[in-house]
Amino acid sequence: HAPAHFRALLDISRFHGDKVFLVYEDEHITFEEHYRRVAALATRLVEDYGVTKGDRVAVAMRNYPEWVVAFSAALAAGAVAVPLNAWWTEPELAYGVSDSGAKVLIADAERAARLAATGLPLIVARGEAPPGARTFAEVVGEPGPEVRLPDVELSPEDPATIFYTSGTTGHPKGALGSHRNLGQSPMTVAYGLMRAVALAGRDVSEAAGQRRVTLLAVPLFHVTGCFSALTTTMFGGGGLVLMYKWDPAQALRLIERERVTVMIGVPTNAWQLMSHPDFAKHDLSSLNTVGYGGAPAPPKLLERITANLPQRATSNGYGMTETTALAIGNGGPDYLSRPDSIGLPSAVVDVRVVDPAGEELPRGEVGELCVRGPNVIMGYWNKPQATAETFVNGWLHTGDLAKIDEEGFVYIVDRAKDIVIRGGENVYCAEVEAALFEHPAVDDAAVIGVPHDELGEEVGAVVRLAPGSSVTADELRGFLDGRIAKFKIPVHVWFREDELPRNPGGKILKTRLRREILGS
Ligand code: ATP
Ligand code: MG
Repeated sequence: HAPAHFRALLDISRFHGDKVFLVYEDEHITFEEHYRRVAALATRLVEDYGVTKGDRVAVAMRNYPEWVVAFSAALAAGAVAVPLNAWWTEPELAYGVSDSGAKVLIADAERAARLAATGLPLIVARGEAPPGARTFAEVVGEPGPEVRLPDVELSPEDPATIFYTSGTTGHPKGALGSHRNLGQSPMTVAYGLMRAVALAGRDVSEAAGQRRVTLLAVPLFHVTGCFSALTTTMFGGGGLVLMYKWDPAQALRLIERERVTVMIGVPTNAWQLMSHPDFAKHDLSSLNTVGYGGAPAPPKLLERITANLPQRATSNGYGMTETTALAIGNGGPDYLSRPDSIGLPSAVVDVRVVDPAGEELPRGEVGELCVRGPNVIMGYWNKPQATAETFVNGWLHTGDLAKIDEEGFVYIVDRAKDIVIRGGENVYCAEVEAALFEHPAVDDAAVIGVPHDELGEEVGAVVRLAPGSSVTADELRGFLDGRIAKFKIPVHVWFREDELPRNPGGKILKTRLRREILGS
C-alpha cells in the first residue's frame, strides 16, 4: 500500500495500542478498541452493504466517538467519506445526501430521524434505529483482536473525502479531497507545532514530556476538527476529548479532569472560555497551547490570552475546507510580535497574492491570496464551473484579500466579498472591526455596507457591548478617529444586546445581519 493514504494512518494509530484515544463524557476508548471497531464496520460496509471503491458513505453525527469510527471505516472500505453538517435541517441534509450521491448513511438517532425520508440504508448510533435501519451496536458488535480491515487497493490520488464548505458566502460546496490530501494533514499541523517549539528554544523531546491531550471545541465535520485535531492525534498518539456541543463551562471542567494540554477551536471558543464566570475556579495548569483558526482572530484575543493564560503557546491557523485545514500559521513569539498576521505558509505550501487578472503582485500589495501544495484538494464535487474558476494552473484562489510582507508573513485584509465600497474607496470591514474591538466596552462588532445614494455605500457597524458597559456612537467614533482613516469611520452605529448571528464556525453571517438591520 502507498504510504500517503488513510490506511497507513490507521495502521500507525494502532501501535498506540492501549493508550486512550477518544474521550467522550465518561467513555475512554483506546486506540486498539477503536481500530477493531473500524475494521468490523468497514468489513460490514463491504460485505453487507456492498460498498465498493469510490462509493460515498455519509456520516451525520455530533462529535461522538462513533463519528470517528464511521469516518475511518468508510475510508478503510475504499469509499469516499462524506461528513454532513450535524446542524443542518432536514432539507439541508437531503441536499448533502443527494449532492454526494451517498449509498449508505451512518447517523446518530437525532440525524437519523431527519434522514429517514431519503430511504437509503441507515446505520444508527446512540439511540433507537427507525424501522428498516440497523443500530451501530448490531452492525459493529464487540470485535476481537482477529478482526481485519477489508482488502482494497487504494492509491494516494484516489478520492477520500467530501467536506462541505461553511456556506458563509453562498451555498455550501462539496470539497473533494484525496488520500494524499488527508495523509499529509498531520504534517502541516506538526510543522507549525515544531516551529513553535523551536522558536521557544526547546527541542521536541523536551516538549513531549507531557502526554498531548487535545480538547476539540469544534465539530469533526469541518476540516479544523477532522484534520487539525483528529488525524494529527491518530498520528501522534495523544488523546482527543470530544464534546457534544461547545459549552465553555463544560470545557473548563474537561480541561481540569482530563489534564488537557491543547485546545483547538475557533477564536470565539477561546474568547468565551476566558469570559466564563467560572474561569478562575478551575485548575488549567495542564493547558499549554491554545490554538484557533478558521475565522478572523482580533489581536485583542491574543492580548486577553496573554493576560489570562500566561506562558501558553498560542497559534492562529489560516485554512479553508479546500486546503485540508491549515495552510498558513502564526504561533509563539512570531505571533506575539505580529498579532495581526496569520503567519508563514506551512512547509509544503506555496502562497502568492495576485491582481484580478491573475498576475502576481509585489510584496506589500493587497490582492487575492492563492495557495498551492499537496494539501489543496482535487476540486469541487459536481461543480465543474466553480472548480475551473477556483483552481487555476495548480493554484487555489482563496477569495481572501491579503498582503505578504518582506519576511513572508501573510496578513488577511478581508474576504473579497466583504468590503464596503464607499465612493470608489475600499473599506475593509475586518480592519474597522479590529479597530472597534480595541475599545474596552466592545464585546463584538460587525461592519456592513449601508446603501447610500451618492457614495454607493456608507460604512455601518453593529456593536454588542460588554455586560455592564456603556458608550455612545459619538464616543466610539471619537475613539476610532486617529486609529483609522476618517472615511472608514462608521456613519451608522447600531447597538444590540443579542449575540451577533454567527455560524457555529465562528463566522459572522453578514447576509443575515444585513437583512436584520437593513431589511435587505
Ligand atoms: P463558503 O466557502 O461556503 O462561503 P467558508 O469560506 O466560510 O464558506 P471555510 O472553508 O470553512 O468556509 O472557511 C474558509 C475561510 O475562513 C477562508 O477563506 C477565510 O476567509 C476564513 N479564515 C480561515 N482561517 C482564518 C484566519 N486564521 N484568519 C482570518 N480568516 C480566516
Ligand atoms: Mg470559502
